[in-house]
Amino acid sequence: MSGREQQYIAEVFASNWVAPVGPQLTRFEEQFARYLGLPYAAAVASGTAALHLALRCLDLSAGDEVLCSTFTFCASANPIVYEGARPVFLDSERTSWNMDPQLLEEELAACAKRGQLPKAVVVVDILGQSADMDAINQIAARYELPVMEDAAEALGATYRGRQVGTDCWASIFSFNGNKIITTSGGGMLCSTDETLIRRAVSLATQARDPVPYYQHSTIGYNYRLSNVLAAVGLAQLEVLDQRVAARRRVNQVYRQRLGGLPGIGFAPEAPFGRANCWLSVIQVDPARSGTTSEQIRLALEAENIEARAVWKPLHRQPVFAGCRYRGGGVADELFQTCLCLPSGSALTDDDLERVIQVVRALVGRNPA
Ligand SMILES: *Cc1c(COP(=O)(O)O)cnc(C)c1O
Repeated sequence: MSGREQQYIAEVFASNWVAPVGPQLTRFEEQFARYLGLPYAAAVASGTAALHLALRCLDLSAGDEVLCSTFTFCASANPIVYEGARPVFLDSERTSWNMDPQLLEEELAACAKRGQLPKAVVVVDILGQSADMDAINQIAARYELPVMEDAAEALGATYRGRQVGTDCWASIFSFNGNKIITTSGGGMLCSTDETLIRRAVSLATQARDPVPYYQHSTIGYNYRLSNVLAAVGLAQLEVLDQRVAARRRVNQVYRQRLGGLPGIGFAPEAPFGRANCWLSVIQVDPARSGTTSEQIRLALEAENIEARAVWKPLHRQPVFAGCRYRGGGVADELFQTCLCLPSGSALTDDDLERVIQVVRALVGRNPA
C-alpha cells in the first residue's frame, strides 16, 4: 500500500457509501480512463469478470471459436469457455513473447479457406509487455474481428508511446493482489465503445431493466467493484508510475548483476514499447550455464526465496486438451527454460543481492 489508502477508505466510511456504487467508484473509473487516455472504463470485481463481460457482449454462440495467446494465465481463456465458445491457441513471437502476428495471419487464412472464421481475438500483454498491436489489429481488421487486449499484467506499460489497452475494441486490467497496483481484488474494462461499457455495467449489476421495479430481460452477474475497494484503487493509481519505475529498477539490477553470466538471458524488451517489468524473468540455457531454471528455483527455495516458473502454455493444460493450437515451440521453450525472479516494487538492494548471490553461485560452476 502507498499510504493514502486508509485515508480514502475513511472517507468512504464517513460518507457510508459502503456498497458496489458510490463517488469513489465513479472517480476511480474516471481517473483510470484519463490515465489511459480512453473515454470509458467500468470497474468490476476482477480482471476475469472484465474479460467475461466483453466476451458476453459479443453474443457468441455455442461452438464459436475465439483466438487467444497460449503463453498466458488460464484467466485469459476461461471466459471464452464460460460463453460456450472454443479457444484456439496461438504461439508467441520471440520479440515480445506475445502472440505472433504471422501465426494469427496464417490461422485466419486457414479459417477463411474452410469458411469458418473465429469471432474474436484475445491478445495478451504478457509479463508486463505489450503485444505488437499494430500488426495484430491490421490482420484482425481484414477479417473484421474485434480485438480484446488482456492487459491484466501490463498496466503502465506503453506501445509506440501510448498506454497499453488503448489500441483495441476492449481492454481489461486486473487489480488482484499480485499485480502492479492492487485493490486486493478487482478489474477494469476499458473501451472507446460507449455502448459496450453501458451494456457491460448493466450486465455487471444483474441486468436490471430501466423501470422502477425489479425486472430482468436477460441474465446478468454480480460483478461490480466495491466502492471501498475503489478507494484503495484511487490511492494506488497515484503511485502507479512510481511502481513501474521501481519494477524497472529491479529488472535493471538483475540485468547488470546476472546478464554477463554464461547461458543467462532476460525477457526481451521489444523495440515497439516500454514494459512495466511486472515480473523479471531469466532464461537459462542449460548447456552454457551448467544449470537449469528448476535447479535455480530449488536453490532459491532452500534460502527461503520464492521463485516460480513462467506460465505453462494453455495448449499444454489438461483442461484445454482438444483445443486447436497453431505454432512452433516458442511458448513450450519459455516454459521449460524460464524462471520468474522476485520482482516486487518493495524489494531492497539487500533483498536483490540475496537473490543474485544464489544465482551466481550456481551458474557456470559446471559448464558443459
Ligand atoms: C491476473 C491475470 C488475469 C486475471 O485477473 P484477475 O483479476 O485475477 O481475475 C487475466 N489475465 C492475465 C494475463 C493475468 O495475469
